[in-house]
Amino acid sequence: MSTTPGIRRRRSAGRRTGSPEPIDLSLPVVAIVGRPNVGKSALFNRIAGGRIALVEDIPGTTRDRVYAQTEWRGRAFRLVDTGGLEAEGRFSDLVRRQVEAAIAEASVILFVVDAKEGLTAADLEVADLLRRAERPVLLLANKVENPEREQSIVQFYELGLGEPIPVSAHHGRGVADVLDIVVDILPPPAAEKPPEAAQVLRIAIVGRPNVGKSMLVNAILGEERVIVSDIPGTTRDAVDTALLFDGRPVILIDTAGLRRPGKRGTGIERHAALRSRRAIERADVAFAVFDLLEGFTAQDAHIVGYVIEATKGLVVVGNKWDLVRGIEGVTKESIARAVRARLRFAPWASLAIVSALERTGVRELLTEAWRIREERARRIDTGPLNQAIRRAVAERPPPSVRGRRAKILYVTQPEVDPPTFVFFVNDPAAVHFSYRRFLENTIRRAFGFDGTAIRLVFRGREEAQKAKES
Ligand code: GDP
Repeated sequence: MSTTPGIRRRRSAGRRTGSPEPIDLSLPVVAIVGRPNVGKSALFNRIAGGRIALVEDIPGTTRDRVYAQTEWRGRAFRLVDTGGLEAEGRFSDLVRRQVEAAIAEASVILFVVDAKEGLTAADLEVADLLRRAERPVLLLANKVENPEREQSIVQFYELGLGEPIPVSAHHGRGVADVLDIVVDILPPPAAEKPPEAAQVLRIAIVGRPNVGKSMLVNAILGEERVIVSDIPGTTRDAVDTALLFDGRPVILIDTAGLRRPGKRGTGIERHAALRSRRAIERADVAFAVFDLLEGFTAQDAHIVGYVIEATKGLVVVGNKWDLVRGIEGVTKESIARAVRARLRFAPWASLAIVSALERTGVRELLTEAWRIREERARRIDTGPLNQAIRRAVAERPPPSVRGRRAKILYVTQPEVDPPTFVFFVNDPAAVHFSYRRFLENTIRRAFGFDGTAIRLVFRGREEAQKAKES
């Protein structure tokens, strides 16, 4: 476990406005909310340690809120304590304003409740607002300083914000663990996406109605520790749930739990498709679930197409294995052959066979998703990349397209997640579709990327020249 933050206590306790240091306003915000006297300030001081900076004078920030710039495990963020609002006005207005302000600017919200006092009406009021927010919320039960109190925190499940995490802002207990989770769910820094971006895994679970998406979600949640369930209304299209899988954070983006709109007809279909696409967009890896009893249908292939278009990781999940395993001639191999035959356009896709009902294959599914997540974060050095491509091109030169032959000058992988390969060529239009596929296969044979779509981009000669000169 990491060391407890805030060991260096502030010298001027009670005075938060030390010498103002510049705060980087581009950093993500972690907001602490909760009713008065639950220990928000104590938690703020504990996390910010000696580094408390600033205050009212930062442009674009509201008076009466206390900010600090701090960092954990190398991730810098701004911490805000909205508690300054407590001093004035009617209570419920204050709570509302405080929470709304936090929702507006925070990437992660720490909702503090008081284990000594127990659950209060005001807690429920705050929770109501937070459940509707489009932000991840961690529920912290503060003042947990003895075993009895630890027992008592189950009462906070009633807030509907997932598992209460026991902490003691005074003693520092549990705070490091909370920060571990916080930095994992913070969005990546805007400027740089580090190659080791595989900090959190976002999985979209998509598929036609009745293939067993909901049951699969339940099977996953039944196995793993849920940190935050129903991350409040992330969008109206999906329910997000954060969980820990082997100690690593996973966010499930689940379109299944939502009931389909009441209207009948094609509108429903279109709506479902849109919802799946949005869920896929937000994910690293999609589980495209199909029903083994019905086989892999054209509609299933269509959904797989969305995942490929979005350049995401893909696991095609055949569900209801329990229903087909007794059928004569049906084996996992025969299923794989049949599905692969329909997935010729994505031979790199992963395939899994599970029973959501019996919860078989579920752990393997998450392990595979993490593997794919890491593949997506991989960057290939320019040297070996060009070597592999040059060799392949020598063996199979580009065919001419309408009298013009493509020449590949240089390849780089400027981006990860999705892995993106830029080919500088004399004439992008001269690269035939089938040759693009050959180049993609070459990259895959040499460097892997199993389970994820990758992107190939072709650029003309002038750009290539510039890239070489710089
Ligand atoms: P969704 O619409 O994709 O979310 O599908 P549901 O999870 O609601 O499942 C549709 C139906 O299939 C329900 O009656 C489930 O009980 C059933 N079902 C889901 N997974 C399995 C499975 O692995 N085996 C069996 N036998 N039935 C399943």
